[in-house]
Amino acid sequence: MKRAIQVTDQAGYCFGVRRALDMVKDYLSEKTKKVYSLGPIIHNPEVVEELRKKGLATVNTLDDVEEGVVVIRSHGVEKKLLDEIHRKGLEIVDATCPFVRNAQRLAQKLSEDGYQVVIVGEQAHPEVKGIVGYCMKEPIVVSNAEQLKNKEIGPKVGVLAQTTQAQENFAKVVEALLTVAYECRIYNTICKATQSRQTAAVEMANAVDVMFVVGGKNSANTARLAELCRTSGATTYHIESADEIVPEMVRGKERIGITAGASTPRSHVDAVRAALEQLGS
Ligand code: SF4
Repeated sequence: MKRAIQVTDQAGYCFGVRRALDMVKDYLSEKTKKVYSLGPIIHNPEVVEELRKKGLATVNTLDDVEEGVVVIRSHGVEKKLLDEIHRKGLEIVDATCPFVRNAQRLAQKLSEDGYQVVIVGEQAHPEVKGIVGYCMKEPIVVSNAEQLKNKEIGPKVGVLAQTTQAQENFAKVVEALLTVAYECRIYNTICKATQSRQTAAVEMANAVDVMFVVGGKNSANTARLAELCRTSGATTYHIESADEIVPEMVRGKERIGITAGASTPRSHVDAVRAALEQLGS
């Protein structure tokens, strides 16, 4: 059986991740100081290891940094953490994605203007924690419309999204808020890279027998892509590398689709494609 293997155009680094990596690499190439990343620079262990060899140390908290340079990841951080870095006299390479920065600014402005901020996203995700940190009052964070039940919603609400949320999920939360709030300001902060990646993945999932979504298991945007593909009805595998592919995954399948999360190097996507091409029927 001759198999058709397709890869979405968007598979590979998004703009924000590429920008962050370029900023770090530029800095490391001319560095004279120690360089630290608060958490892995991207959700990709191989890239983290490659950069470690070039001098980027990954630490979990600012307590582990006494001197040198702190890199802020594309996810961004809370304002108070930025202030703390300044207070410690450390240099900053701020690789916060401009789309994330926009969400932080909007949350701050809404909060200052007296709106109850509602963020659609995952409470524990670093990007969401960062956005929360720009609000004057504790915002409401929900990952879906059901979670709004039992929340006390004020008359003036400002809603925005973690940049990698699914459109449909955001729309459902907005719809639910419109039934209870008197005034509702809506900022669709889902980034264009995420939107086009999700649209392409779903279109492909609808046209193939099996989908492979390549990216870190702890990458929220990759997990969401896999979830969207599954919801489309395609058998879907979320894998980190080509090593996880076994013949059973594609047995009897003629049409195979591949997509990848925003922090997946294109080389991983190509390796997955090559591994699939080598499998027999
Ligand atoms: S997914 Fe979008 S918001 Fe997130 S880093 Fe990439 S471009 Fe920026």
